[in-house]
Amino acid sequence: MSTLLTVENLSKHYTVKSGLFAPMRQLDALTDINLTVEAGETLAIVGESGCGKTTLGRCIINAQPSSAGRVVYHPKTGGDVELTALNKRQIKPWRQDIRMIFQDPMSSLNPNMRVFDIVAEPLRIHKVCKGRELEDRVVSTLAKVGIPADAVGRYPHAFSGGQRQRIGIARALVLDPKLVIADEAVSALDVSIQAQVLNLLEDLKAEFGLTYIFISHDLGVVNYIADRVVVMYLGHVVENAPTEMLFERPRHPYTEVLLEALPIADPTRRKGRKTEVRGEIPYLGNRPVGCPFHTRCKYAQDRCRAEKPALRKINGTAQEAACHFAETLDLKGAYEDAPVT
Ligand code: SF4
Repeated sequence: MSTLLTVENLSKHYTVKSGLFAPMRQLDALTDINLTVEAGETLAIVGESGCGKTTLGRCIINAQPSSAGRVVYHPKTGGDVELTALNKRQIKPWRQDIRMIFQDPMSSLNPNMRVFDIVAEPLRIHKVCKGRELEDRVVSTLAKVGIPADAVGRYPHAFSGGQRQRIGIARALVLDPKLVIADEAVSALDVSIQAQVLNLLEDLKAEFGLTYIFISHDLGVVNYIADRVVVMYLGHVVENAPTEMLFERPRHPYTEVLLEALPIADPTRRKGRKTEVRGEIPYLGNRPVGCPFHTRCKYAQDRCRAEKPALRKINGTAQEAACHFAETLDLKGAYEDAPVT
């Protein structure tokens, strides 16, 4: 695999006022994010709401300017492109290569546009084609996501939630992208429809040779679709590991908590004891000193309150974690083998 995207020391801060006479404060939405996305993989980014995963997705495509660091795209055609250094006009051509699918298809699709025009719009904006060629491309892309040609004249409200998300996927794919960022793409759908859309995404990935960044709060979905998982907490990457390793043996206490909250069909396969996370997620403007997770971590020690752990490789494997005690803590994975009866 070759690297398609590199995120280096990326940070995003907001300056806000919490009251009329209150001083300005800095909210750190992302702090020093480093990761790579390999061509052809599905990289999941998970964490609670407010952890910075959506901000990260938006900063990657420069829809939101970052405060520091850089995002570099490595197109197959050669020549690295620093996306974070480009202005609106300069980044426009690269938005053909990197597309987004959004969570709520009802609000991301213009209710006043027919499905044909919704999917044709990116082709028109980027002046890719017109006339008969444009028509063919729109209809064939819609067919690939399961929307028949005789439906292209309808408006979004005439479709179910699952069909609307298929239209959103067609809009993302019509430009033949290389990287698709799916932001909670199945969260608004019923579970049975979620499975259909996930299978569709898998099929399209194989057919178009796509790479996905899959942003989700749902570890069950992530386990199904992702090759690798990045776990975020309070704007930090706290773990980064191949999916199987992460589910089998997490190396960060926050990942252990997320796995414990995962509903599984057979509770007898739940590894070990019940893990509970203490307290509330801290306010972004008042982040703990030391390890960002120490106020909620049951393994916290004095060192955790004083020294921030760096994200580092664990025992020379492909698993990285930002915990001082990642090598020695006996953390529980999601499942154990089914008991013999
Ligand atoms: Fe918990 Fe300490 Fe590890 Fe942070 S460094 S996750 S507080 S054990």
